[in-house]
Amino acid sequence: MFGYSGKILHIDLTERKTWVEDKPEDWYKTWIGGVSMATRLCWENIKPGCDAYSPDNPVCIANGIFAGTPVPVGGKYGLASKSPLTGFIGDSLSGSWFTIALKRANWDGVVIHGASEKWVNVFIDDDRVEFRDATKLMGKGTYATEEAIREDLADDQVRSATIGPSGENMVRFANVTNDGRQAGRTGHGAVWGSKKLKAVSVRGTRGIQVADPETLNKLSFDITKEAQGPFTNKYRILGTMTNVMNMNKLGLLPTRNFQEGVFEDAEKISGEYLHDHHKVKTIACAQCPIACEQMSVVKSGPWEGSMTGIEYECLFANGPNLGISDMNAAIQLIHIADQSGMDAMSTGVTISWAMETFEKGIFKKEDFKCKKYPDGFELKFGNGEAAVTTAEMIRDKEGIGKLLSEGTRIASQTIDKERGTETWKWAMNSKGLEAPGYDARGLKTFSLGAAVGTRGGCHNRSSAYDVDIQGIADRFKVDETRGEHAKDAEEYAAVYDTLPLCKFIRRCFTGKADRAGAWPTIAQLINATTGWNFQYEDIDLIGQRAHTIKKAFNIREGWKRSDDDLPWRWKHDPMTKGPSAGYVTSDEELEYMIDLYYKAKGWTKEGLIPKKVLIDLGMPDVAEQIGV
Ligand code: SF4
Repeated sequence: MFGYSGKILHIDLTERKTWVEDKPEDWYKTWIGGVSMATRLCWENIKPGCDAYSPDNPVCIANGIFAGTPVPVGGKYGLASKSPLTGFIGDSLSGSWFTIALKRANWDGVVIHGASEKWVNVFIDDDRVEFRDATKLMGKGTYATEEAIREDLADDQVRSATIGPSGENMVRFANVTNDGRQAGRTGHGAVWGSKKLKAVSVRGTRGIQVADPETLNKLSFDITKEAQGPFTNKYRILGTMTNVMNMNKLGLLPTRNFQEGVFEDAEKISGEYLHDHHKVKTIACAQCPIACEQMSVVKSGPWEGSMTGIEYECLFANGPNLGISDMNAAIQLIHIADQSGMDAMSTGVTISWAMETFEKGIFKKEDFKCKKYPDGFELKFGNGEAAVTTAEMIRDKEGIGKLLSEGTRIASQTIDKERGTETWKWAMNSKGLEAPGYDARGLKTFSLGAAVGTRGGCHNRSSAYDVDIQGIADRFKVDETRGEHAKDAEEYAAVYDTLPLCKFIRRCFTGKADRAGAWPTIAQLINATTGWNFQYEDIDLIGQRAHTIKKAFNIREGWKRSDDDLPWRWKHDPMTKGPSAGYVTSDEELEYMIDLYYKAKGWTKEGLIPKKVLIDLGMPDVAEQIGV
């Protein structure tokens, strides 16, 4: 088989044993790689209904089909487990050298079962697996852990995926980090923490065989050339932070916990400001000619010297959404999240919930007692020092940080039960995942995409906001097209997440990012890698299957229609300023759009999947278990 080794490595942390599973070529043709293959491995290996922190919840890693080849932005892998944040599938992507090392060790994927008694670093050295004592790595940050492992093994080619102190402390939205990139959002770091798995390290020394190297090189060269041209300028120069000013203009920039969509100090916290005052260099994931990551530094003040990579989602969550216009504070917050290995978006949105709860008089100063401030402090919007201290308390689970480390859903439910309040109304999450930086009140199609998302409301798993922002549909009005649009957007994204290819390459194939512009080249890349004969329709099928296996996983874990919902604020609490003021997506509108969406997917009115749909997609065993 070309492009794959045909082998999945299983590792049992409880028994400290390993075994190899051979997979047939048809399995790879169906699941391809990335989030699709990782979710399929979860489906095959999880004990349905188990707790996310149970040893029965496996860590599933799946390489991308193009990892280690010349295909630009193809150096990515998928990571999946049951999410402790949502209780449904937690599927994430991360890029760079870790996946290339794993591919060169000749593993297509890794499934880590059980839980270790002592903290462990699993070292995959080509065929050999070693369980290394991780005691001396405890408390180290994500990057420091990678460095320490390389030093310990005296090999700078060893690549590691690690957790930081937040994962060790099982902050519910902790990340896994490798090569400075994060597999974020759904709490993988906490799952690793529950297994006492500090790191997975890999040394891979073998070659990767592809079917048609000449064609693959030629295609890759042409795409790389385009990727260094005008189609990616905005990512290379300002990164995704251009969105700060763009979203502000549209009245969609989440401000002070999504109370408004316009921030009066947007310019001070914009990509342009960051570029002029804080950016020190641009870096790239391995295998990427674009380089969108804007490394930025605090140059003066109490956090002088703190440096981290910044992108829009982290910046909105830790800037305007906290009412913060001091870029130094925003960088410091993101730096804390990245170093300690927790999701910067969930960190920011959880702190913004706590700020609003404080300003409404439910949290008091004394709720924020800590070592640094023994009498507590006032967690008000715009107070950078208070936000930074709160992030540190979350990381360390100190004082109220323990509650906040559970994320907005559990934290609000706990406080409401204790104090008889209704803070859940401003807990900005769907299915437990904190909301992204696109205010759905001014984006009807995205409000549907966010409500039905399999890992919660997510800008990365559904690009439905494109339909609204590009004016393909009226962003303020519901109509009968929204079900098809939301379906198309999530399945389009699922193709990129499965290969995986970074979505920023999407216009570099032919200049057009739509299916007609991208699918023929993607089919050629797959065929040159594997020797298969994929056509346009097969690329569509990749997205449909990837999305369906995630949905099937959720159904088996108890999903029901009422789980497809939006935060209360997006349904009932209109903004008062800017071009999106006055709008919500009402319950009636949402239910109407969900009906349209289920119909477009070929599902039942309750959102369940008919057996025939699953069988037609080549999933007979899934049909057997959850089909209706
Ligand atoms: S464009 Fe950015 S996120 Fe995408 S692969 Fe390149 S560096 Fe990584």
